[in-house]
Amino acid sequence: MVRKILNEAAKKLTNSPTPLLDARVLLSKALNCENALVVFRDLTDKEISTFNEYIVKRMQGIPVSYITGEKEFMGLNFILNNSTLIPRPDTECLVEKVIEHNNFSAPRILDLCTGSGCIGISLAYMIKNSSVELTDISLEALNAAIENINLHNLNSRVKAYKLDVISDAIENNYDIITANPPYIPTEVVKGLDVSRFEPVRALDGGADGLDFYRIIIEKAYYALNENGILALEIGYDQGESVPKLMNKFKSVYVYKDYGENDRVVIGMK
Ligand code: GLN
Repeated sequence: MVRKILNEAAKKLTNSPTPLLDARVLLSKALNCENALVVFRDLTDKEISTFNEYIVKRMQGIPVSYITGEKEFMGLNFILNNSTLIPRPDTECLVEKVIEHNNFSAPRILDLCTGSGCIGISLAYMIKNSSVELTDISLEALNAAIENINLHNLNSRVKAYKLDVISDAIENNYDIITANPPYIPTEVVKGLDVSRFEPVRALDGGADGLDFYRIIIEKAYYALNENGILALEIGYDQGESVPKLMNKFKSVYVYKDYGENDRVVIGMK
């Protein structure tokens, strides 16, 4: 029963590179279960109509994660909305590198441009004595971040508040500052397929893509404690331009993502 429904739906998803997988994830969501493939009963009319609605959205090109409203990152589930980017597997490299570089037993962490909160919340989850602040210019994104703090029971160590990194001051005395800011040049964003559904505000890094880095690097340097770490996600072609902005830092490291592209810059104060 379920397999037949899946195969028929997958045939409609001609624009997707992964039609059967998409159909399985969407059916699992419609059935409110982990994996629709292990469901061996007849589906209700309501379940079938919900699934059909999801498939129609997917046929329009809407990403699966926006249809389900969630995405897995670092083994944790994150709630999304239209103001958050979908967490990318490549961003997991940033979290891993921060954990590798961290020498603080109870670090005070600031996550800028947090979106769904996936970076800061994963760090809070993995560094047990940390305290984490999630900040974003978008109140709507902060709503998702707050839902994710609650989802992972991290209220005692993680808070979220509005901060416009360009115009607002940031506090001092952080051990770790992380950011996956908008970093795609304006002209490039316009031609990107992702900008059809993901918030352009979270992608557009200004004319050369470096607007946010210039300000974040300057502000973060002063806000960090001695030996503090600034960890930035960067675009595949920013492995030279971003470190160049970090000449005040004692050491700067560039790391590649799973696709062998430069993706993470770490600076130690
Ligand atoms: N990595 C994202 C993308 O490929 C861009 C994220 C960003 O600008 N911070 O769409």
